Amino acid sequence: MPACDLDAADPLAGYVDRFVTGGDVQAYLDGNSLGRPLRVTADRVRDFVTDEWGGRLIRGWDERWFDLPRTLGDRIASLTLGAGPGQTVVGESTTVWIYKLVRAALALHPGRTEIVIDRSNFPTDRYLVEGIAAETGAVVRWVEPDFGSGVTVDLLDDVVGESTAVVVVTHVDYRSGFLLDAPAVAALVRDRGALLLLDVCHSAGSVPIELEDWGVDLAVGCTYKYLNGGPGSPAFAYVAQRLLGHIVQPIWGWMGAAAPFEMGQGYVPAAGVQRMISGTPPVFGMLPMMDMLDLVAEVGVPAIRAKSLALTSFALDLVDSDLAPRGVTVSSPRDSRRRGGHITIDHPDFQVITARLWTQGIIPDFRRPHGIRLGLSPLSTTFDEVARGVAAIAAEIAG
Ligand SMILES: *Cc1c(COP(=O)(O)O)cnc(C)c1O
Repeated sequence: MPACDLDAADPLAGYVDRFVTGGDVQAYLDGNSLGRPLRVTADRVRDFVTDEWGGRLIRGWDERWFDLPRTLGDRIASLTLGAGPGQTVVGESTTVWIYKLVRAALALHPGRTEIVIDRSNFPTDRYLVEGIAAETGAVVRWVEPDFGSGVTVDLLDDVVGESTAVVVVTHVDYRSGFLLDAPAVAALVRDRGALLLLDVCHSAGSVPIELEDWGVDLAVGCTYKYLNGGPGSPAFAYVAQRLLGHIVQPIWGWMGAAAPFEMGQGYVPAAGVQRMISGTPPVFGMLPMMDMLDLVAEVGVPAIRAKSLALTSFALDLVDSDLAPRGVTVSSPRDSRRRGGHITIDHPDFQVITARLWTQGIIPDFRRPHGIRLGLSPLSTTFDEVARGVAAIAAEIAG
């Protein structure tokens, strides 16, 4: 079916107008890396400056801001993570959260010395684990998935054992888009007595997640990707209720202490998920994602996932018909049950081609060694944009 018919039949097509568009952009194919802002966000930010920050001043901390990491965390959890309240908190970058959670997991399992992670994981996840190993003497056990696919239960089965303290895996691979069988992985890790840290950066807000049903111990995720929080918006961390009584994170700041305003001697962690916080939370950066969460509440993740799969299926069909004859290969799962919200295609010339596309307002992402990543954020991307993007790539290869 042509793109215009697919857009006409798309029940979510009307949501595209809620986002800020314009400039020279012909096709934005990177909403998985930085989501577009919503139009209402400009009002929210202005009102915050004039009324809440400007009008309430320091009283804002008592009225809303101090609780915001937890209230916003609860909203993210109920709308996108399949988790009940009191287990999710918004604050640090994903990078800092991973550090804190891996260190906390090691401390929960003092008799176990190994961290399992895969070579295809996002660089920050890998580097942090290497740094923690250098700092603590823990041993890194690497899983080596095939390029273009991802971490499987069989691969983990070989390396997760009685020495494993924590397994760090990503739900949707940032490059291939491979969707991990998270419930099966969680069952294996639990069976071996280890803890699972699931990185949901590329799935939160686009792929259904059921952290509680799956029995995930720890999770972390971005808010500037499918949650449209804006550049550098703070990430969230999830800690399963059963761990909250005794988990201790390594950055002992006053805001995670039991009685921050007593300014007392000696760190005593707060009860509940507040103990995962270290210092003053970035309130301003939490504002834009609230508008996207309202939209997720309105539409629901199942409908978002349905459009996401329709977009990536359409993109794959176009790649097969128009780009494969020009030497382009697909590095993403064709099985929609194993595919997240983006696909990566490869061709030796894609680095120079991506630079040329950007000057035309066609904006995908380049991923080494020679991949173009098409990230199709479901509520802000049209089928027509996908068609324009693929046509522009075809023209560049031909030219
Ligand atoms: C985007 C992403 C990150 C980003 O971490 P930051 O601290 O926000 O830079 C980390 N891990 C994965 C899997 C990601 O996709």
